[in-house]
Amino acid sequence: MKKVDVIVIGAGAAGLFCAAQAGKRGRSVAVLDHAKRIGGKILMSGGGRCNFTNMYASHENFLCDNKHFCKSALSRYTQWDFISLVAEYGIAYHEKTLGQLFCDDSAKDILNMLLSECNKAGATVTNQCDVLKIEKGDSGFTLQTSKGEYQCESLVIATGGLSMPKLGASPFGYKVAEQFGLTVKPTRAGLVPFTLHEQDKSVLAELSGISLDASANCNDTSFNENILFTHRGLSGPAVLQISSFWEPGQAVEFDLYPNGDLYEQLHKAQQSQPDVLLSNALGAFYPKRYVQTVLPYLGIENKPLKQYQGKSLNEVAKAFHQWHLKPNGTEGYRTAEVTLGGVDTDFLSSKTMEAKDVKGLYFIGEVMDVTGWLGGYNFQWAWSSGYVAGQVV
Ligand SMILES: Cc1cc2nc3c(=O)[nH]c(=O)nc-3n(C[C@H](O)[C@H](O)[C@H](O)COP(=O)(O)OP(=O)(O)OC[C@H]3O[C@@H](n4cnc5c(N)ncnc54)[C@H](O)[C@@H]3O)c2cc1C
Repeated sequence: MKKVDVIVIGAGAAGLFCAAQAGKRGRSVAVLDHAKRIGGKILMSGGGRCNFTNMYASHENFLCDNKHFCKSALSRYTQWDFISLVAEYGIAYHEKTLGQLFCDDSAKDILNMLLSECNKAGATVTNQCDVLKIEKGDSGFTLQTSKGEYQCESLVIATGGLSMPKLGASPFGYKVAEQFGLTVKPTRAGLVPFTLHEQDKSVLAELSGISLDASANCNDTSFNENILFTHRGLSGPAVLQISSFWEPGQAVEFDLYPNGDLYEQLHKAQQSQPDVLLSNALGAFYPKRYVQTVLPYLGIENKPLKQYQGKSLNEVAKAFHQWHLKPNGTEGYRTAEVTLGGVDTDFLSSKTMEAKDVKGLYFIGEVMDVTGWLGGYNFQWAWSSGYVAGQVV
């Protein structure tokens, strides 16, 4: 039987960071993970370069039923604190866009940094360890695992959400929450591509590979980035962002000329080149292949500009400014970057992440009902929530 002060289940971003913090305080810490390979998700993140934080991170970039919950942790361990740590390790990084910071070289740098922090703090990390049973006694927790029995005073659940099961994701954390009487909010895939109904897919799949500037709007939320047509449906940053706000059955409105007035542009073209075909005029703003496919799909006739009279030019512009698409669904947890929902934050202290009614039990990272936007926010939540728990476990 192994006895330690703290056991962290889950050696992902939040778990490793929390373990290092607790170890630095002189606590003996064991991190247990069932995966064969530690840090698989970190290595895959940001296309292999890990978008490790966002310069503009604030509580407004998170979805959570209690919109105040993340404020405390985010302000106690900020993006600037993590950026200092990255700089201390000499890891080169750059801003890609919108405050998103990526490693210049490889996500491996971030994983190695976390493992080195654990190592310096004396926290051990054990992989391929299945936790079979957890029991709570007066002085702490007893765990039966595939690598023997463990005892600890504080137990931290950092097992993440359901996205990407092939990287080790499991519902373990939700089951532990339920075992100890905490509520789990319904989960669904977030930051995930949309799939399309057959009538849309059969046309739009031809546009695979085309990316357009667009704003995606749904449920009073809007993201102005770009969208990408794929052979399976619709992806790209604006789509991934809005997918976290979309509910099945709803339509998403895309503005495909988000930074200007397409009517004005077409009207100008009509005055100066009345004999030019609409498709050629639109070719100034969109790829040719897109225009050729989308005009018949949107039910717009392709005529010389002079033939669009009255409101008809306006209607053409409107079809691009307000393209309504009803997705069939999403690609689900197989490709989703995050899981929406999770352990209900009403049951947790926002200062320490400890369960209010279960002394010594903590939940950190994605397992909780806190989900960041695309752009480094989810890792920032892992660091911030891991940090505050690490100060008290
Ligand atoms: C492909 C991809 C790319 C991403 N890119 C970014 C990005 O660039 N920037 C960003 O901010 N976010 C990104 N994310 C989201 C980010 O990776 C997660 O939000 C973050 O890793 C959550 O940290 P976590 O520690 O809570 O969970 P995870 O990192 O998922 O770690 C959970 C750990 O728990 C272990 N575990 C699960 N079940 C058990 C069990 N039963 N027993 C023991 N161990 C268990 C898992 O093996 C895993 O190691 C990406 C996600 C994906 C899938």
